[in-house]
Amino acid sequence: MTDELHRIDHKILSALERLHTATRTAFAAQGYVQGLSPLQAQILHHLHRNPAQAVSVTLLAEIFRVTKPTVSDSIATLESKKLIKKTASKVDARGYTVKLTKVGLNVAINIREYAAPFLASLERLDPNQKEALWDALIHLLGILKDNNLIPLTRMCFSCRHFGEQVNGARYYCHLLNAPLPVADLRVDCAEHVLKEAP
Ligand code: SF4
Repeated sequence: MTDELHRIDHKILSALERLHTATRTAFAAQGYVQGLSPLQAQILHHLHRNPAQAVSVTLLAEIFRVTKPTVSDSIATLESKKLIKKTASKVDARGYTVKLTKVGLNVAINIREYAAPFLASLERLDPNQKEALWDALIHLLGILKDNNLIPLTRMCFSCRHFGEQVNGARYYCHLLNAPLPVADLRVDCAEHVLKEAP
């Protein structure tokens, strides 16, 4: 790798670190306003974004890279505040999944407000810049996932249904039987099936 490219890698990482700090700080502040710890706010936010997903303690522990007892503590607090409700698992006699209550949904909608200024900033990029940025980021996420540097994700690049250069399309979903424009690539798809390791 040339020195110049090496320098760009460091600058990209530095920019990502700044973005992460800015978004996490805004997110934690919004959760604090709602009387929640960062992990409790993250759990509500995840449930809001994935209403159809069966969300278990194990899944949350994997997504947020914390222990199961830590997740269980947060769930107990959220349940005591009537923000989530538990449903017994069909596959594990001692397990359960969680969903937002109506009150919890309203709190999750308030938490999501943290994103408003960041989305307004992204709107100032032109469509080509946005598509190029999204294309690069989703590829980077795939590489980071392969290197076990980010938690479980249900993105197209790790999906058994994903194809490249099919029927003249750069990306293709064999489940939908349709091309996937870059803007339609997903990072959390409910139909995702993990691709077997080569
Ligand atoms: S099923 Fe979902 S994750 Fe898999 S390729 Fe199709 S759109 Fe992507």
